[in-house]
Amino acid sequence: MPANTGRRPTSAALYEEALQHIVGGVNSPSRSFKAVGGGAPVFMKRAQGAYFWDVDGNRYIDYLAAYGPIIAGHAHPRIVEAIARAAESGTLYGTPTELEIEMARRLKEAIPSMDKVRFVNSGTEAVMTTIRVARAYTNRTKIIKFSGCYHGHSDLVLVAAGSGPSTLGIPDSAGIPISIAHEVITVPYNDLGGLRQALERWGDDVAAVLVEPIVGNFGMVMPKPGFLEGVCRMARDAGALVIYDEVITAFRFHYGGAQNFAAFPDHAAIEPDLTALGKIIGGGLPIGAYGGRKTIMEQVAPLGPAYQAGTMAGNPASISAGIACLDVLREPGVYDRMDALAARLTDGLEASAAKHGVPLTINRIRGAFSTHFCAHPVTNYAEAQDTDGEAFAAFFRAMLDRGVCLAPSKFEAWFLTVAHTDADIEETIEAADESFRLVAAG
Ligand code: PMP
Repeated sequence: MPANTGRRPTSAALYEEALQHIVGGVNSPSRSFKAVGGGAPVFMKRAQGAYFWDVDGNRYIDYLAAYGPIIAGHAHPRIVEAIARAAESGTLYGTPTELEIEMARRLKEAIPSMDKVRFVNSGTEAVMTTIRVARAYTNRTKIIKFSGCYHGHSDLVLVAAGSGPSTLGIPDSAGIPISIAHEVITVPYNDLGGLRQALERWGDDVAAVLVEPIVGNFGMVMPKPGFLEGVCRMARDAGALVIYDEVITAFRFHYGGAQNFAAFPDHAAIEPDLTALGKIIGGGLPIGAYGGRKTIMEQVAPLGPAYQAGTMAGNPASISAGIACLDVLREPGVYDRMDALAARLTDGLEASAAKHGVPLTINRIRGAFSTHFCAHPVTNYAEAQDTDGEAFAAFFRAMLDRGVCLAPSKFEAWFLTVAHTDADIEETIEAADESFRLVAAG
């Protein structure tokens, strides 16, 4: 597949240069175009609202939203102002600030299962620490996770098992000792039978069941009715804690966590013991947070024996950006608008794919959705894998050439933001119509 030498010669040149200095030319593997035919990724220069401009001056409508955080759109004036104000007052103190209390209060109000909160710098740190806290609290070592869910890049959660239910994991990444892999059990998402089997076999050793309450990492996948309730009930019957990774989901669908999402049929019974947060709550600056029941959180130093710390944790710039972002999201009608725009967009994509005879399954949850190039439903990782990656790659490239920026992976979601407009949706549907036609033509 040719690199971006046509419309994007400067990106192609910068990529060659980047390869000399930065491993793989990118600072996160998800930014590489490896999964969509290779070549140079697009080097962006500027972003405003719903748009990117690349180093060659091409404009793109952005549905990547930086993998989730940019829900207010790029460079939202309130967030920019909050960051500037924070910077003027000093970027890092190494002391507590009042801002941190304000942010913690807001998170607790929106996600009441969190009695106590701690800020960290990334989603990875947040999840990693919830596991440590769960282990400290239960005095057990194993965790159960669900295949295809991504929880950051700490050792334990990079272990993704084979496809069979309740198989012991093997390291998916080099550099993870087999002893750690033995502490992780992976079962298919939406499969309570698999979870039951795993708990019957290893239940006495399981510290926590870790789950994305709505999946964002093999497309957007809703839990089947009763799934989260079953996870919570079975975990607790086994004496294990429940950890929700809400790094993507918190504040994505409504003002609060997926755990507070009234649309869930088993709404009342699905609160976790611990929650990990990140992305949106930093308004586009680095952040993570975790929280949970008071007695559990009291395991954390300086109150308890589980250690977790951070030089940058709770820094005024990230917290200020986060508060400003939550302010934007508290405005009336914000989520309904993103929902309506996403509905229009997915209706258009479905109609166009059908017109061109391209099999397409869309999983949409309010303002976020995923496009799977297949004819079957996608409810777990195996189904998400069993889709046409080449068709996705062709679609992705055709969209990019028509000014629409998606994530370069068939597993990633499209995110609407506060900044998208009806005109953006129209333009995207037109670009998609031409792109599906090209996909169909092979
Ligand atoms: N959990 C989930 C559900 C995620 O989607 C991600 C990142 N995509 C993480 C954790 C890790 O967050 P970070 O990249 O901020 O470390």
